[in-house]
Amino acid sequence: MLYVALPIKDGDKIIGVSRISMFITDIDNLINSLRDKILVVILIVMIIALLFAFFFSRNLTRPIKQLVEVSRAVAHGDFDQKVVLKNNDELKLLGGSFNNMINEIKSLFTQVNNQKLELNNIIASIQEGLVVLDQLGKIVLCNQSFEKMTDVESLTGKFYWETVRDTKVATLVKKMGNSSTNLTSEIQIKDEYYLCSANQINSKKEIVLIFYNISDLKKLENIKRDFVVNVSHELRTPLTVIKGYIETIEDDIDKKNLKYIEIIKNHTNRLISIVQDLMTVSQLEDNHIKLNLTEFNIEKLFHDLNITFEQKVKSKNLNLVFIINDNIQIFQGDEFKIEQMFINLIENAIRYTEKGEIIVRAGVEGSFIKFEVSDTRIGIPDKDKERIFERFYTVDKSRSRQIAGTGLGLSIVKHIVLLHNGKICVKSVLNSGSTFIILFPII
Ligand code: ADP
Repeated sequence: MLYVALPIKDGDKIIGVSRISMFITDIDNLINSLRDKILVVILIVMIIALLFAFFFSRNLTRPIKQLVEVSRAVAHGDFDQKVVLKNNDELKLLGGSFNNMINEIKSLFTQVNNQKLELNNIIASIQEGLVVLDQLGKIVLCNQSFEKMTDVESLTGKFYWETVRDTKVATLVKKMGNSSTNLTSEIQIKDEYYLCSANQINSKKEIVLIFYNISDLKKLENIKRDFVVNVSHELRTPLTVIKGYIETIEDDIDKKNLKYIEIIKNHTNRLISIVQDLMTVSQLEDNHIKLNLTEFNIEKLFHDLNITFEQKVKSKNLNLVFIINDNIQIFQGDEFKIEQMFINLIENAIRYTEKGEIIVRAGVEGSFIKFEVSDTRIGIPDKDKERIFERFYTVDKSRSRQIAGTGLGLSIVKHIVLLHNGKICVKSVLNSGSTFIILFPII
């Protein structure tokens, strides 16, 4: 039993006691029934909470899921997808911005695609062959003209040397790796001639090659060269005959007319020199010219040159000196042409020097054999230095004619130097002298 007693008070005075008693079993029954009810209530509350949480979370994740799906589709290039959200909350704002972004990307992509299409059409319509190479020499892009040139289709991904076998292209591509300027070279693919121009796209280290077909120009050049050779050939015989007759009548002519004969003789000699030089230039310009390469002694060459010019040098009271440095003895090249090169340079030096000396030097500079021909007189103005190697270019026409030059001597020299893969340049100071420097790679 459970007893509970409570005092009954009147003010501070206890006037009685209230006593209640109950069986413990009844209390237990009451507590049990209460516990069951509490458990049922807790269960119901939990189920309601779980349902609420489930619906709440579903409502929250559905728009995020939609955003993820749409962004995935956009990433795969489907710009027609849209985010559609019902709830008017921050996620709907985000969805709106996302849709705007998709529209922007779509219009940018359309723009880029149109530009790409336009560029491809332009590249395809270019008559010149165009090819872009990556760093390894693989073709990244090429146009139809290039495919036509090589007679091979679907070249992308192949190495350029599988289709263009001219070694000059390989040299150009190799040089391009160390150069930032445009480089050009004349090449041949099948029976056609091309001017190949190489440029580097700096950002990607890719090389762009453009092939201009110059076959027609080459044909014209050949016709011109053949014409010059033929005309020179035809002129040579009558000129030699005229020269012979002049020399014959020279002895019998009276003094009064001798000066006219002298003028005719000078002009005939000049014409013969021009014809001879023209033939030499034309032969040197022939693409199929072959050098007769031999090893010859430089000292002997200088000795022969000294004998050739002995009289001329003496008559002008000049000094001609030959110096060999670095103990070089042998030179590999076309002996006849190298001799012709020195003859032209020494002839010029004598021609344009009234007083002083002409020095011919041979030596070594790095990986080159260096020849120098220097004189001590009139010099060449700066503005003419670059052009004197052109055909018929003369610094001062009246001066050159007086001294009986043809304007072809240095052009011949330059051709000979280039045929030997060499370089030529001139250093000159007016009225002090000129030095022609020639470098040939040591083979
Ligand atoms: P040219 O037969 O007229 O000498 P070149 O081709 O040999 O023709 O030379 C071209 C021009 O270069 C000449 O007209 C001359 O003015 C100049 N030149 C060549 N060599 C010399 C030199 N050693 N000194 C001064 N001028 C020179």
